[in-house]
Amino acid sequence: MASCFICDKQSDPGFDPVGGDELAVVSHVLPGAPGRGPGPVYLGHLVIEPRRHAPGLADITDAEGAAIGTWAARVSRALRAAGAEHVYSMVAGHQVDHLHQHLIPRYPGTPREYWWPPRMDEWSGAKLGGVDEITQVVRGLRAHLQADGR
Ligand SMILES: [Zn+2]
Repeated sequence: MASCFICDKQSDPGFDPVGGDELAVVSHVLPGAPGRGPGPVYLGHLVIEPRRHAPGLADITDAEGAAIGTWAARVSRALRAAGAEHVYSMVAGHQVDHLHQHLIPRYPGTPREYWWPPRMDEWSGAKLGGVDEITQVVRGLRAHLQADGR
């Protein structure tokens, strides 16, 4: 099988997910991911993926769907606890052929013209960051997940 960015990422010893279980895993989008440049990324932009290589929503099992939905709810609560006023979610799959559901927080004060389709990262006041800022965001989200009993 051809190499898959997401399968490779999940099996990398340095992979540092926000949360997950045996079926699904949640992580922060990193600079240099497929379809993006090496620059800073929008803080709080997460992706939920099945552990198993499955191209799209029609290819996952009911159990994988339940795990993905459960993690979407859990990390959305964590994003809200971390300051998001709303969490957008979508599946596009134009870049990588392994299902990944985007979760994109909207923070208070974001002008309405950036809301949907979400392009908050284009707003001059957007919270952007590199690896250090992402590490802080991930730590904060993990703390909120723990406080939520996860
Ligand atoms: Zn894959």
